[in-house]
Amino acid sequence: MMTVEATQLAAMMEAIARRVSSKRALLNRLDAALGDGDHGTNVSAAFAAALEEIAALDQPSPSDLWLTAAKAMMNRMGGASGALFGTLFFKGVAPLRGKDRLNKSDLEAALQAGLLGVKDRGQAEVGDKTMVDALEPAVIAFASAEDFAAGWGRAAAAARRGAVSTKALVARQGRAKYLGERASGHCDPGATTVALIFEAIDDWWKEARNLSSHKL
Ligand code: ADP
Ligand code: MG
Repeated sequence: MMTVEATQLAAMMEAIARRVSSKRALLNRLDAALGDGDHGTNVSAAFAAALEEIAALDQPSPSDLWLTAAKAMMNRMGGASGALFGTLFFKGVAPLRGKDRLNKSDLEAALQAGLLGVKDRGQAEVGDKTMVDALEPAVIAFASAEDFAAGWGRAAAAARRGAVSTKALVARQGRAKYLGERASGHCDPGATTVALIFEAIDDWWKEARNLSSHKL
């Protein structure tokens, strides 16, 4: 696949919603150790809402899809992460506007704009024990690949490595900041969500590629 259109983006969104919902308890548990225990509930409600609202759109463009997802994150996720995941999608709308088929550089632009937005809004850098620890390396890894298949694979691996790396860290942003040294020993829930998102996309992509090669 050299390009993706809205129907495929919607299917990717469905794969993400399924993945985060199946990991709701794990994400709540991680957030219970570092914050208030609601992250899994917040994230799965928001992606389920995004999916439902996207399904209700009439022939949406990719940028319509991004905007709908942004609003669902802001309205349904709540908390710090709602504003941040909302910003991640919201900043991706402009680079996608007017395009029906997205090539890899279009998605790269949307992800890069989203990452900058998240960092600007949350003021977190890599090493602060937040979602940025997974998101930044994932976006860089995606950009470093030649095509979508390699890009999603590298992004998923980089996001997972980033999420795992947060375990040893002490938090400098978010609620976990107040725990000081006690935050160390637990993976950051937001970074784990980012890893789950890229892993779900990567798995979806591999599946879609297998199906299309069987057709040939
Ligand atoms: P809340 O902390 O409001 O309960 P959630 O539990 O849904 O929100 O999300 C917590 C996650 O949000 C954290 O694990 C972290 O990844 C992310 N987060 C919190 N503050 C920031 C920030 N300033 N920058 C980036 N990410 C942040
Ligand atoms: Mg929380």
